[in-house]
Amino acid sequence: ADQKDVDLHEGIDSTLLILSHKLKQGIDVLREYGDLPKVFCYPSQLNQVFMNIISNAADALFETNIKSKQIIIKTNLEDSKHICISIKDNGNGIPTEIKERIFNPFFTTKPVGQGTGLGLSISYQIIEKHRGKIDVISELGKGTEFIIKIPIS
Ligand code: ADP
Ligand code: MG
Repeated sequence: ADQKDVDLHEGIDSTLLILSHKLKQGIDVLREYGDLPKVFCYPSQLNQVFMNIISNAADALFETNIKSKQIIIKTNLEDSKHICISIKDNGNGIPTEIKERIFNPFFTTKPVGQGTGLGLSISYQIIEKHRGKIDVISELGKGTEFIIKIPIS
């Protein structure tokens, strides 16, 4: 599909709808949406990124036994030319020794048959193609935050 000017909140919302069955198993999703301009992008590709990251956050939360499992999705205008999307969970976090490998194709810590290890490598490529950046901040026992910055046009 072609590039288009899109409201990314619509993409995030429809991704949440697709994932609603999974998220309903005890996860609260909080949306803190800022005022975003439309972004010129490949919408279905960015939706794939949202799907990968939100789905990973849910998987991480299912591995913990904390009571209030949460995913917080925040959006804001980074500067006059970029938007920023943050997807944060309060799961177990990513151990330092594996943090540098999570974007590698086929890297997974999930049981055979449950993870392909391709989600983040594909997400990385999609964000790169949009001339954006994807970063991860993670603290063991506290959670993980993926931060995506992409140009508006
Ligand atoms: P997969 O989900 O198939 O394992 P991904 O490329 O999506 O592959 O993710 C790679 C690995 O990164 C995961 O197996 C997991 O170890 C780690 N990871 C990704 N997101 C999170 C997260 N939110 N919390 C903890 N670990 C994560
Ligand atoms: Mg994944």
